[in-house]
Amino acid sequence: LDRSTAYLKERKQFGKALAEFQALQFRLADMATELEAARLLLHKAAGLVDGKAVDATKMAAMAKRLATDTGFKVVNEALQLHGGYGYLRDYPIERYLRDVRVHQILEGTNEIMRVIIARQLLAD
Ligand SMILES: Cc1cc2nc3c(=O)[nH]c(=O)nc-3n(C[C@H](O)[C@H](O)[C@H](O)COP(=O)(O)OP(=O)(O)OC[C@H]3O[C@@H](n4cnc5c(N)ncnc54)[C@H](O)[C@@H]3O)c2cc1C
Repeated sequence: LDRSTAYLKERKQFGKALAEFQALQFRLADMATELEAARLLLHKAAGLVDGKAVDATKMAAMAKRLATDTGFKVVNEALQLHGGYGYLRDYPIERYLRDVRVHQILEGTNEIMRVIIARQLLAD
């Protein structure tokens, strides 16, 4: 998000900065909103784990699934906002994309997070 914000201010097309195109401003707004929502769920789940709450496992699975899917979606958006440079090694975005992608697989895949959540919902 930080890299994209800086890049949209720096890169000019059609005689103005990309940051002046409202369609691209909306993309930044959605990225920031979705990151904030994922962070809030993550912090809530962390608090429940610390407090050994009964629903800590379900909430941790929800947070892991949402934070990693959101992370990938946001970096993918960032890559798109960088245009062709996003794909090239000249900029760090392609590396962020590869780094963040594995977290949808590691420490229990996101399908398994859904298994955990659904099992808990159906047991209640
Ligand atoms: C870079 C990297 C580092 C790693 N480091 C470690 C490590 O330090 N320690 C460690 O123990 N492991 C490590 N792993 C392994 C990682 O934890 C596993 O890759 C991960 O748990 C998924 O298991 P799998 O690859 O066997 O996929 P599989 O279990 O074969 O799953 C394949 C696909 O089927 C889906 N799937 C499987 N079962 C179900 C089901 N019941 N319902 C719905 N969908 C299902 C999965 O979600 C996935 O999409 C690492 C993996 C990578 C890529």
